[in-house]
Amino acid sequence: MQTLIWQFGTVVDKLQETSRTQSIAIDVPDWAGHKAGQHIDVRLTAEDGYQAQRSYSIASPPEEPRVWITVERLDDGEVSSYFTDELRTGDRIELRGPVGGYFTWDAQTADSPLMLVAGGSGVVPLMAMIRHRSAAASRPPARLLYSSRSHEDIIYRAEIDRLVAVDSTLEVFHTLTRQQPDGWTGFSRRIDRAMLEEVAWRSEERPDIFVCGPTQFVEVTATSLLELGHAPGRIKTERFGPTG
Ligand SMILES: Cc1cc2nc3c(=O)[nH]c(=O)nc-3n(C[C@H](O)[C@H](O)[C@H](O)COP(=O)(O)OP(=O)(O)OC[C@H]3O[C@@H](n4cnc5c(N)ncnc54)[C@H](O)[C@@H]3O)c2cc1C
Repeated sequence: MQTLIWQFGTVVDKLQETSRTQSIAIDVPDWAGHKAGQHIDVRLTAEDGYQAQRSYSIASPPEEPRVWITVERLDDGEVSSYFTDELRTGDRIELRGPVGGYFTWDAQTADSPLMLVAGGSGVVPLMAMIRHRSAAASRPPARLLYSSRSHEDIIYRAEIDRLVAVDSTLEVFHTLTRQQPDGWTGFSRRIDRAMLEEVAWRSEERPDIFVCGPTQFVEVTATSLLELGHAPGRIKTERFGPTG
């Protein structure tokens, strides 16, 4: 059920995830709950009445009462830099949601392997799915292919490592496109068809596929998945905006 009325939530926690990303916990009165993969819209209003509106994916699973978002700071970004630099615990922010019904995954009804492909902060709604899956009693096997610029830029790195360590049915593959630490054994290029062929479930296994990231990243990935024979109806995509 969607509640698309604007309301105020209160910032109750903030966490530095990487040098450029922060997670923000928002207490929203009478939050009706959400599905993994949905987002909220936020609206900032200046004293002169100027407004800026943006969307942020919900990072927390449906099981968590507070709404967590994770915001990547863009240097010339109007709203993201306000969220990372100015917003403080106790501040109120205007928001509406949860928004979106297409890019969602429910562990209770899932009967196919789960394939998640993330570029940068595109991991946020996919993390909600991973967290939701971890809390579920029965879970299909899942794989995450996650592209970051460098090791330091991997959002939720410690949590992902912890989840993989206790769940043999969750596999995570990283690719670092700009800088790799010494001894790096993962991929070190942008996601391409050959990488997807190596890592993704095969089309005959009929995985549910979710792809999220910058616009160009999503387009290249979705095209490669189609070329590998995955049915269009099984590939769900969410575009965050321009390639940085
Ligand atoms: C459904 C949805 C969910 C989203 N979820 C998240 C999320 O979980 N976390 C998150 O950090 N962002 C998310 N975004 C992107 C977010 O809505 C904003 O677009 C982003 O924070 C930039 O806003 P800004 O006001 O800081 O930048 P702007 O002032 O709008 O733009 C500044 C500059 O950055 C460029 N730019 C704009 N958006 C992006 C982008 N996404 N990537 C790279 N360059 C960009 C612009 O072309 C411009 O040059 C989501 C977008 C959508 C549509």
